[in-house]
Amino acid sequence: MNKMSDLLERLRDRGWRLTSQRRVVAEVLDGDHVHLTADEVHARAAERLPEISRATVYNTLGELVALGEVLEVATDGRAKRYDPNAHRPHQHLVCFACGTIRDVHPTGDPLASLPSAERFGFTITTAEVTYRGLCADCARSAA
Ligand SMILES: [Zn+2]
Ligand SMILES: [Zn+2]
Repeated sequence: MNKMSDLLERLRDRGWRLTSQRRVVAEVLDGDHVHLTADEVHARAAERLPEISRATVYNTLGELVALGEVLEVATDGRAKRYDPNAHRPHQHLVCFACGTIRDVHPTGDPLASLPSAERFGFTITTAEVTYRGLCADCARSAA
């Protein structure tokens, strides 16, 4: 339980001032395949630190995004999600029934796969691919 998250370690290395409120937000974002909405981050943070306000959580998330330590992910046109897996390029696999999101690593670089004739002179710096379908649990219950 006491494992320090990657995110917390990275923030410590950067000398980010870790108040108890910031620490709780970083702890909530610990782990793999974490993609939480701001409201989910707030609800989980409040379980550990009941006095933490929604505004503090939102501001802290904004700072983490500005630092490049947390990604903002919008996969489904719903609420933005916050993803601490900011240093390993990845794409997302989304279940359109339950909304589960997995970090995935396709073979081949999505940036490189766009032919030059389709680039319209753009200097392209990022590419996002979202794979959608039914997760195994949802496929089972739909059967
Ligand atoms: Zn599902
Ligand atoms: Zn992700």
